[in-house]
Amino acid sequence: EEDAAVLSGVRELRGDEIPDAALPVLAVVGRPNVGKSTLVNRVLGRREAVVQDTPGVTRDRVRYRAEWAGRPFILVDTGGWEHDARGLNARVADQAEIAVSLADAVIFVVDATVGPTATDEKVVQVLRRSGKPVLLVANKVDSGRDEADAATLWSLGLGEPYPVSALHGRGSGDMLDAAMALLPEISAVGGAMPAGGPHRVALVGKPNVGKSSLLNSILGHQRVVVDDVAGTTRDPVDELVEVGGKPWILVDTAGIRRRVHQTQGADFYASLRTQAAIEKAEVAVVIIDASQTITEQDIRVIQEVIDAGRALVVAYNKWDLMDEDRRPYLEREIEQGLVQIPWAPRVNISAKTRWHVDRIGKHLDTALDGWETRVPTGRLNAFLGELSAATPHPVRSGKQPRILFGTQADTRPPRFVLFATGFLEAGYRRFIERRLREEFGFVGTPIEISVRVRE
Ligand code: GDP
Ligand code: GDP
Repeated sequence: EEDAAVLSGVRELRGDEIPDAALPVLAVVGRPNVGKSTLVNRVLGRREAVVQDTPGVTRDRVRYRAEWAGRPFILVDTGGWEHDARGLNARVADQAEIAVSLADAVIFVVDATVGPTATDEKVVQVLRRSGKPVLLVANKVDSGRDEADAATLWSLGLGEPYPVSALHGRGSGDMLDAAMALLPEISAVGGAMPAGGPHRVALVGKPNVGKSSLLNSILGHQRVVVDDVAGTTRDPVDELVEVGGKPWILVDTAGIRRRVHQTQGADFYASLRTQAAIEKAEVAVVIIDASQTITEQDIRVIQEVIDAGRALVVAYNKWDLMDEDRRPYLEREIEQGLVQIPWAPRVNISAKTRWHVDRIGKHLDTALDGWETRVPTGRLNAFLGELSAATPHPVRSGKQPRILFGTQADTRPPRFVLFATGFLEAGYRRFIERRLREEFGFVGTPIEISVRVRE
């Protein structure tokens, strides 16, 4: 029930909740076994961990909603990463780089009982380069006696180490106070979109669907536009390209090239990369291998786009392999797996033959239009009035909540706040979403609806 609600593109916000996409992001990085997961559990508390552990929520989930001193934020957990000994330095640094690109500030965890290692030094370099604020945590300081251990971490050059025992909770409050002080009010990673200039696109999808093939097809054949298009600031990992006659910024192309899925601990990496790319983008093209059965993993990527509040286009790739036998099966799989997102533009392509690749551009435009649509308050309320007159909320235990007033609080993605006399049940909220889409379009964009109860 909850999952269906999310996949339908509606996520209800509680009360005065800040939308997740705007919450500041804190990432926890460090070598394996320094206690990152223990620290994350400590911050989240058991209750939060259980809440997140609902069916359909991915095992390799790395972003959690957390709260400290009444301030909500997003915690990025990079623990749980399976590693092998070979190439460990590079891997940990790589992981830190991804996490940092996702975050507004970073908690760097070092094992105080071990002291600084060569791998820790590598991570420090990555953190320095990022320019993001860093809090150095000396973990496993289980007692006052161990505090001398923490002092050895001054040599990392990241300032004062915060002595903490993630296991027992010692020092974690002070540490969190310090971490919160590093976070901005509104996230710069989720929300920082350059105004004007080319839009930012992420090509995402599970391994082997054809991301690198599509990238190469675009880079190889489309004119790569000059770098100094007005209003463009971009990472070296991003690429400026032309699709369908317009310039676009493809984000995190380095990540696509790196083919992370061939290495060990790959799923976790791929998931981090995907999330980082989606966060950086305004619109995501989720690529699905049309020649194969649609899987849970495909749906999960779509879910991540919706959760992040980004515009969405679904591209069915490898259409050159499509035969008439497979086709009805594909349509049925789409019907079953993606029934909740009929609003997402669909394009069938072949990265290999370049068939219809240029059409992606048109769909990106459509999705971004929906994402940026604003409904004037007058029109919205006329619509809500008609909707509730024609189809009122069902009566529940003798009560019938009424919608009093609505407003679109935000765009990119569209966010609506409805004031009502009582709780609106999920089915009715989905009905409102469906009708909103019929009336105002919103093609290619998730919609957020929050309900505030006024007596
Ligand atoms: P990760 O790989 O960085 O996520 O590390 P884990 O959180 O899995 O912790 C690795 C090991 O260190 C586990 O056995 C933990 O119980 C232990 N550990 C974590 N934090 C502390 C701590 O504050 N004190 C002590 N003594 N052990 C800890
Ligand atoms: P990625 O892991 O998502 O980057 O996928 P790749 O681009 O590496 O593609 C995985 C495999 O699918 C490779 O063998 C590609 O040649 C193949 N492939 C990708 N796109 C197409 C396509 O449109 N048609 C066909 N027939 N094969 C494709």
